[in-house]
Amino acid sequence: MRRLQILHPYIEALEPYEPPDLEGTAARAGLRVEQLIRLDANENPYGPSPRVARALAECRDYAYYPDYRPLREALARYAGVGPERVVLGNGADELIDLLIRLLVEPGQAVVTCPPTFMYRFFAQVNRCRVLPVPRRADFSLDLDGVERAVAASGGEARLLFLASPGNPHGLSVPLDQLRRLLALPLVVAVDEAYIEFGGESAVALLDEYENLAVIRTFSKWAGLAGIRLGYGLFAPELAGAVERIRAPYNVGTAAVVAGLATLADLETVQANVARLVAERERLRERLAELGWLEPLPSQANFLLCRLRERSSREVVEGLARRGILVRRFSDPRLAEYVRITVGRPEQNEALLEALRAL
Ligand code: PMP
Repeated sequence: MRRLQILHPYIEALEPYEPPDLEGTAARAGLRVEQLIRLDANENPYGPSPRVARALAECRDYAYYPDYRPLREALARYAGVGPERVVLGNGADELIDLLIRLLVEPGQAVVTCPPTFMYRFFAQVNRCRVLPVPRRADFSLDLDGVERAVAASGGEARLLFLASPGNPHGLSVPLDQLRRLLALPLVVAVDEAYIEFGGESAVALLDEYENLAVIRTFSKWAGLAGIRLGYGLFAPELAGAVERIRAPYNVGTAAVVAGLATLADLETVQANVARLVAERERLRERLAELGWLEPLPSQANFLLCRLRERSSREVVEGLARRGILVRRFSDPRLAEYVRITVGRPEQNEALLEALRAL
């Protein structure tokens, strides 16, 4: 077949995102997909509030385009800001993409602090350059390095992404460090996908800094990864600008209904978050007792673990044969690590049992 001549080389260089092969993994382990213990994608093993399923079943509005006002207002109350600061997105992913499209011209740069979430991918898709400033060996931020990179870019660095707590290490960014970065001449986007599990929110600084963007999601704390609902909290001017480039109905009615039902049942969902936080600390101790696996402290719903004497491939494949999914990374710096999402107590026990048997 003749190759398409219209594809830009940068598109050909991109790798499509490969989700895990659940059916294949389950079949190889002799299990059904529902029997897999999925600790590989930082999802919430308790799922959403039971009110979500009820609200979705009872909703009579699916024939109409959604009205975003009630959810923006409920989110503003939840986050403690004015509704004019709230922008809805199809997952946090879409807000990352929108911010890049709004602020960074092709050829200009996005600053990242790897290892981190896939900001690099979104920058590449938008034909932007990436200025990576790697974190130190202990995964703390290299603040001097970020300042040097921004200064050296001669104004081309427009947007800095920081995840707090960060994926895959679980460390959050202290607000004094964040203030130092907010003094730079660019927009600082703080990705708070895991903020409900720990760390200090940057929302407290929104009134002070025009160049601060906070990105959040219902995927983790609210157990709604499959519904795709995220939101951004911005200074009013930035919020207005993102609103202008957002597709008019980027978030579906089901996501709006699920979001509202969650915010009307915070008690249930927050109790599950508290269970996961307690379970994270318990799991961390139990994992450390194995002797060959060193879990780092985490403020999120996962533990990054350094391996001794075993390769990450051995561990991931050995667990997969027993129907347990955990995550390894292609980044050479993370070759000796696996990331384990905190599950329900009985799932964590099955994980520990399987690790002992490896
Ligand atoms: N930011 C971080 C740091 C994440 O880890 C993830 C999901 N793994 C996302 C954003 C994406 O969130 P969403 O499901 O809302 O697109």
